[in-house]
Amino acid sequence: MNKWLEFENCLKNTDEVFFWWRDDDVKARKPKLINLTCLRYQSRLIKMLKLLEKYNISGIFAVIPDNFFKWGHPLIKILKKHNVYISLHGIYHINNSNDNGVSNEFPDGCNVVELTRIISDYQHQFSEIFGNRLLPVFTPPYNNISAKLEESLLAVGFRCISKRNTINTAHNNYNVDIDITDWQTARMRSEDAILDELIQLINSGVHYIGINGHHNCVRKKGFQFLDKFFKLTTQQKNIKWVMPFENTGIFEYHKK
Ligand SMILES: [Zn+2]
Repeated sequence: MNKWLEFENCLKNTDEVFFWWRDDDVKARKPKLINLTCLRYQSRLIKMLKLLEKYNISGIFAVIPDNFFKWGHPLIKILKKHNVYISLHGIYHINNSNDNGVSNEFPDGCNVVELTRIISDYQHQFSEIFGNRLLPVFTPPYNNISAKLEESLLAVGFRCISKRNTINTAHNNYNVDIDITDWQTARMRSEDAILDELIQLINSGVHYIGINGHHNCVRKKGFQFLDKFFKLTTQQKNIKWVMPFENTGIFEYHKK
């Protein structure tokens, strides 16, 4: 059966499903006279924001704080134009792990006190720019962080650390469930692979699904796929696109 048809049937034959969108790796780049890379990524960010807006879908965009205040002014303008939320995404987005298989900016043994101070300072600076759009959420790069740093960030006011759900842990609505990017090629995965994973998730009883996008890796075909995907899912009565972290208490905390 055609994979789209299979996906549509899966949606039609299930109870309510809630989707939410997390998009990572908004990164400020050093301006150059001719900077095609910078312009390419900016245009992909704008395309993603416009596409979400077309379907009235909000999302959370995870921003790498390093150099953001130095070179990020165009990105601030772009992000502020749209109805999306912001979270910090690491500090430098680098891999400090000695474990070959697991990338982690904040592996066990990292300097928890110093890192908590740096991240809290950035959170404060970002809140002055983005106001209530900045959520008290930290999104570690590679979805990994030392348990001690996680604990420390929660103690200084972050409400959650958004990582990725795994089959080994209980499902958590803070975490994304599926990454649409193929990290071998840094392009979007095949349509069939993404739809297959979604079908499997829904059939296994996961009905609150966080989708992890990376606008930098989405090209023309990817945007066409997402357009079709958003169109189909927003047309189904039993499928709802929710604000990131809706029903998790984050927003109640935020209104105080
Ligand atoms: Zn990232």
